[in-house]
Amino acid sequence: MQTSFILQAAEAINHAILSSESVLESLDREIGDGDHFINMKRGAATIVAMRDELASLPADATLQKIGMKLLSTVGGASGVLMGSFFMAMAKTIKDNGGNDMTAIAAAFHSGVVAIQARGKANVGEKTMLDVLIPVAKVFVEQANAEREALSQALKQEAERGVLATRDMIATKGRAAFLGERAIGHIDPGAKSCQIMINAVCDLVSG
Ligand code: ADP
Ligand code: MG
Repeated sequence: MQTSFILQAAEAINHAILSSESVLESLDREIGDGDHFINMKRGAATIVAMRDELASLPADATLQKIGMKLLSTVGGASGVLMGSFFMAMAKTIKDNGGNDMTAIAAAFHSGVVAIQARGKANVGEKTMLDVLIPVAKVFVEQANAEREALSQALKQEAERGVLATRDMIATKGRAAFLGERAIGHIDPGAKSCQIMINAVCDLVSG
């Protein structure tokens, strides 16, 4: 993975998040505290603003800096969890390299495992992990597929994961306080992960 690609992906994610203001705002207002869009917007803008500082670094150092910055600048559960994701990805790429899709999939998977460890959550708890865990699995299994097919498979799995959160009771995060009242609402963190995955897949498949 090249740093130039990471920076392009950050731009694409920033654009996609900004275009999703109303959906992210309303989802977190329904089952959270309404700040999720603000948190995601701050995170994406902060990374885009680091472009010059990151451009000459190798990919692992870039991801590490992004993770640390998200931890220190973005509030809410999502700041900590996304920060952990990038730092774990950085470590896997540093240790094992990241030059082919198999290595990138392994790094993505390790990022998701870090979110699981940090948030002490798993599939079925109505969080971002309902998108990230199944998407990471498909990514690892199909990393060698043709790019367009891989991209479609990842987007399809993200869509499935996001929709699955609708009928769940939350057992982690703020929505857990709502009990059955959370049923019928999509999880905001799952939605923003889908938005980011779609943006990067579209970038890759062009
Ligand atoms: P906060 O909940 O602190 O206001 P955000 O609104 O930015 O933070 O993020 C909320 C999202 O974080 C939720 O929609 C959910 O996807 C995710 N989340 C919350 N707690 C956890 C957890 N323990 N593990 C994984 N994801 C979580
Ligand atoms: Mg919130």
